[in-house]
Amino acid sequence: MKISELQSKHGVPQPLVESLLEAGYASLYPPQAEAVRSGMLKGKNLLMAVPTAAGKTLVAELCMVKSILDADGRCLYVVPLRALATEKYEEFKKRWAPLGISVGVATGEYDSPGARLARHQILVATSEKVDSLLRMRARWLAESLTVAVMDEVHYLHDPGRGPTLEFVIARLRQVNPGLQILALSATVRNAREVAAWLNAALVSSDWRPVPLLEGVYEGNTIYYADHTTRSLVAAKANPSQSLVTETVDAGGQALVFVNSRRSTQAAARHLAPHLKGRLAPEEKAALREIARSAGTALQEPTRLCAELADAIRCGAAFHHAGLHPEQRRLVEGAFRAGLIKAICATPTLAAGVNLPARRVVIRDWGRYEAGLGQRPIPVFEYKQFAGRAGRPGYDREGEAILVSKKRGDREMLFEHYIRAATEPLRSRLGEGGALPSHILASIASGYATSMGAILDFLSLTFFAMQEDVQVLSRQTAEIIEQLLAEGLLARRDGAEAAALSPADELHATPFGAVVSRLYLDPRSGTVLRQGLLASGGTHRCEPLLHLICCCPDMPLLGLTKASYAELEEELYVEGSKFLVPPPRGGGLEEHERFLKSMRTAQMLEAWLAEEREEEICERFGVGPGDVRRFVESADWLVYAAERVASVLSIAGVQAPLRDLRRRVLYGIKEELLELVSLKGIGRVRARNLFAAGYRTLETLRKAPAKKLAEVPAIGPQIAASILKQLP
Ligand code: ADP
Repeated sequence: MKISELQSKHGVPQPLVESLLEAGYASLYPPQAEAVRSGMLKGKNLLMAVPTAAGKTLVAELCMVKSILDADGRCLYVVPLRALATEKYEEFKKRWAPLGISVGVATGEYDSPGARLARHQILVATSEKVDSLLRMRARWLAESLTVAVMDEVHYLHDPGRGPTLEFVIARLRQVNPGLQILALSATVRNAREVAAWLNAALVSSDWRPVPLLEGVYEGNTIYYADHTTRSLVAAKANPSQSLVTETVDAGGQALVFVNSRRSTQAAARHLAPHLKGRLAPEEKAALREIARSAGTALQEPTRLCAELADAIRCGAAFHHAGLHPEQRRLVEGAFRAGLIKAICATPTLAAGVNLPARRVVIRDWGRYEAGLGQRPIPVFEYKQFAGRAGRPGYDREGEAILVSKKRGDREMLFEHYIRAATEPLRSRLGEGGALPSHILASIASGYATSMGAILDFLSLTFFAMQEDVQVLSRQTAEIIEQLLAEGLLARRDGAEAAALSPADELHATPFGAVVSRLYLDPRSGTVLRQGLLASGGTHRCEPLLHLICCCPDMPLLGLTKASYAELEEELYVEGSKFLVPPPRGGGLEEHERFLKSMRTAQMLEAWLAEEREEEICERFGVGPGDVRRFVESADWLVYAAERVASVLSIAGVQAPLRDLRRRVLYGIKEELLELVSLKGIGRVRARNLFAAGYRTLETLRKAPAKKLAEVPAIGPQIAASILKQLP
């Protein structure tokens, strides 16, 4: 189907057609043409289940922009991960802002009402953010939204994010029955079932713009699925090295998937010297620059930064969640530009940004799972890795190669991955974790006022289509009882004594309303309430930090052998200092969770004590990206604690929590609070100013610009900016 025919045959507005032609598109890919024929341009729901790079985004864009130009539509583009939101936002803005379309992105602050988001014609948001907007009853979602694109809808299968995604879809359809849903997914076995749930036409295909060859590397040979073989020369080299260098010698790039962060670094270190000699002089020069930026992306560079810079200089890189987002961006950019020849990555890369390569090497297809040992990764995950093979426009074909670890693995890998169908998508709603939060929100936001209404709503979910709803009703009743017992929900006056019936009227207490608006797990709300009540108005930051680390919403550090013993000792000696009492007589899991909360609180304490980031990373075995993530979660939970203290009128802790929040955000001791109120002044510069005798804004105001500029990390520009802020 030619792009130029879209207007005459399918009513696509001319400016949209022109802008596609200008961008170089000549015709639609076969699955795209099928999508158009399915009626999606006439408002029909569509599920498009096709491999990566088969052009799903363009289909969504056609639909969204047509709705905007033809019918003054408002469109929502929902993604599962923040990194994807930024990527899509930038892509859409570049392409559609010239047509006068306003594009926005929303990922942050959960309890802001988001009124200004309504003015965007295309809003890119994470499913959590949309859920939070629905909780705030953002009216435009019900009244003016015309198209909702659910990208990567196979995340329904994800135990962490799936339930929220399912709720968001069901709720959007409930509040806005005329809404068009466009669901985009990787190929999945039960696409028909998902389409039926969405009342959508289905386009399901294995078509790929670049053909994919799959195979297994064993001994010295690649055995392809089409029964051809190919022997590599480097007899002594390790498998990933041989597979990578062969591709690079032929002008391609490679991704190597391994199963741990440490392995990504070791593998990149190993590859680096073998890639260095294969770089052209101008590539080396460009990589030197990128390495410098990656090495100094943080104000306080860590050893990981130096290691990354070393790898990049040689045309290699590693990629995992411990990297700072800026470092990840640099690595991805340099790979797209063809400068970095190979990236060794954890599976997060395959789930996140779009970064294809000619050859994808799946070195580790087993993964350690607590209590189970090494387990093979799911077929779906393998297909996601393989889907990254082949750069459209650069590679004639892409290759996904599994590495056999021992003779005899080959047949098993063919059987288990290459010839296998992916696991069907299953709803994760019944697994429980997310349900209490969504049930509380349904009532707090006024979507439901009884258990019966909640059950009616749950009948719209994918879960209800797949599973026995009896189970869900039982669970719902238990959860509501629990929320009532914890004072998050309340019943109509005087009804407490009788057993709860489906018609009984329910409402959220002020405490429950705050917990829902803050997007907290109700269990976190309860932990905070109990801890704050026990605090007796404490001003000390250690117990408060530990309190937030006891919330299920806080990510926790793992335990090492050495830390285990130390933490147990501390618990034994100082067990009474915590606002949340240590578990008594609980199982091992509960005990270890408490130790982890202690260790995470220690890391936050080190951050507030202004320990260097390098030392923190070293001591706690994390990367700079992790520190940032922990700090973000802590910031949100300290804020939540302050709101909970306020709604429950718990005296004495609110002001200390406000200060603590700013300290968490900046990673500073209390004495620097005043200085960081200046723009451009973070933990390092504030400390340098303090050490040079500038301890208050008053002393800074009187400082001569020249002297100020001499303070380390300040310089003339920042000195001028400081003085400008202090008239
Ligand atoms: P998906 O969302 O399915 O992973 P994308 O929409 O990101 O895939 O498309 C992958 C690449 O293919 C993009 O660079 C896109 O510009 C290009 N592309 C999509 N549709 C076409 C087309 N009809 N003709 C040429 N290139 C296309």
